[in-house]
Amino acid sequence: MAWIDQKMEEGVVTTTLEQALNWARESSLWPMTFGLACCAIEMMATGASRFDLDRFGAGAFRATPRQSDLMIVAGTVTFKMASRIRRLYNQMPDPKYVIAMGACTCGGGPYFIHGYHVVKGVDLVVPVDVYVPGCPPRPEALIEGVMRIQDKVRGERIAKGAENELPMPHHSGHPA
Ligand code: SF4
Repeated sequence: MAWIDQKMEEGVVTTTLEQALNWARESSLWPMTFGLACCAIEMMATGASRFDLDRFGAGAFRATPRQSDLMIVAGTVTFKMASRIRRLYNQMPDPKYVIAMGACTCGGGPYFIHGYHVVKGVDLVVPVDVYVPGCPPRPEALIEGVMRIQDKVRGERIAKGAENELPMPHHSGHPA
């Protein structure tokens, strides 16, 4: 048996590859700009010089879902906006992640009772990986949320059928 086959069988190669791949992915998250209301101001502050999200490798905000692997939904999700969020999420390539930033996004926030126009949680529209509570959350809290996403990325496996298997890009036609 070739050395490489033996190492593959022992899982040494896949483990090392996984670590390298995950290190690269967690160190270069590209968030999509998705500010919907006042929480977005804190998201912008997080990316600016004082808090400098780029220190964590996640400061390259993109204006297109095609180049993004992290959606930070920051603000009030109205029913009118919900279908747009879903469409943009579908247009992001796998693997992709979602942070729900702020009370409105997490569960309706101040609009929970009387906000007939507000979706009571963006997880009714797209799958959420990390919830960051607050009205609004401070930049430090959003940074903490990004670090929890990085923890998740670090634990993902490329081995087929493994627990936490990394969702690979698929090409099943034009999404949305
Ligand atoms: Fe504005 Fe508070 Fe809602 Fe954030 S959670 S969008 S700060 S009302």
